[in-house]
Amino acid sequence: MKFLEKGKRYLERVEDDLLDDRKRRRMLFLWLNGILALASLGMSLINLVTGEWALMTLTLCFAGLSALNTLWSWRHEGLWVLYLIFGLESGALLTFFLITGIPDGFSALWILMIPAFSLLVFGIKGGSVYSLLTLAGLAFWLWTPLGNSLLRYPYSPTWMLRFPFLYMVIYAMALFIEFVRSRTSRRLHNLESWYRELYRHDALTGLYNRYGINEYLETAGGETPSETFSVLVADIDDFKQVNDSYGHAAGDAVLQAVAQIIRQQTCEHCRCARWGGEEFLVVMQCSHDPMQIAERIRSRVETQPIVWEDVTLHVTVSIGVCAGFSLRSAQTGRIINAADKALYAAKRQGKNMVVRGDL
Ligand code: GH3
Ligand code: MG
Ligand code: MG
Repeated sequence: MKFLEKGKRYLERVEDDLLDDRKRRRMLFLWLNGILALASLGMSLINLVTGEWALMTLTLCFAGLSALNTLWSWRHEGLWVLYLIFGLESGALLTFFLITGIPDGFSALWILMIPAFSLLVFGIKGGSVYSLLTLAGLAFWLWTPLGNSLLRYPYSPTWMLRFPFLYMVIYAMALFIEFVRSRTSRRLHNLESWYRELYRHDALTGLYNRYGINEYLETAGGETPSETFSVLVADIDDFKQVNDSYGHAAGDAVLQAVAQIIRQQTCEHCRCARWGGEEFLVVMQCSHDPMQIAERIRSRVETQPIVWEDVTLHVTVSIGVCAGFSLRSAQTGRIINAADKALYAAKRQGKNMVVRGDL
């Protein structure tokens, strides 16, 4: 059961990583190198059985390099060391195949695979540099007298011409695919963050909505369980009268003005939300005194006139405060309830006041 749980959690992490471009590349790198390491190990075992000692040593070295690369990408975030090891790895293989000329078909496949593979793993910039360097290497082996003299089995002239040409065609195709893919993934990413913002926020006031603040409380509670926090619940007094006397649009303007005051009177560590119709919630995670902040909000709302069209409106708020607790999801519901009770105590005692509540 535990094993299954672990597997499920790993798959969830993989799913998250796939959305992150950098992590996705690292993961691809890890998997491809792991497969290469295993395949090379298999090949070296076959060579051991058939007694091809030179080939066995080479494939074993290659398995070692791939395993090193896999381990590195498993443990580290940085990519440049991977590029380096990967460069050594495929450079060694390429040189080996070109010098020995065996196995011909496989070496061709490997070289032609490089542009697609490197663009997929390194992205457009890294993949292009890498592919062009390989092409330069290929041109050196096939077209220069020095490179040619090093080849044990010289290729026929037509084959020599065809090889780099095919390579460039595959490179151009892979480049195009990677370009479209990265553009689409960037667009999707932007769209996703835009939607996330949208469903977390209240359209009228721009504050968090109930879903957004609940999500914040859950994640912040999970990350910093020991941090203390306070909660303020504010409700506009006799708000229904504003709507009844001046209309819904005037009510909306009042909601926006009160939201702005709340935002102005709280610091960047406070999270403000529209909790319900004309109720606001402030989650404070700073060293400020919550009673003092609540009092500042109350007096500011009382004194600031709200101009809507040609009328000037005056409203007041009642605020319930519950202060200084550990931010743990299990407790937050109770703390918000306590602040809510304090708010209703303020309403009963005549409104336009701040009341502190206890758990
Ligand atoms: P109290 O002092 O006891 O809080 O009285 P109240 O009138 O403020 O409270 P009540 O719950 O009776 O009325 C709240 C009103 O808020 C009723 C509802 O029509 C109005 N309301 C809720 N959401 C919106 C909104 O988005 N815009 C506007 N204009 N009004 C809203
Ligand atoms: Mg009200
Ligand atoms: Mg209310």
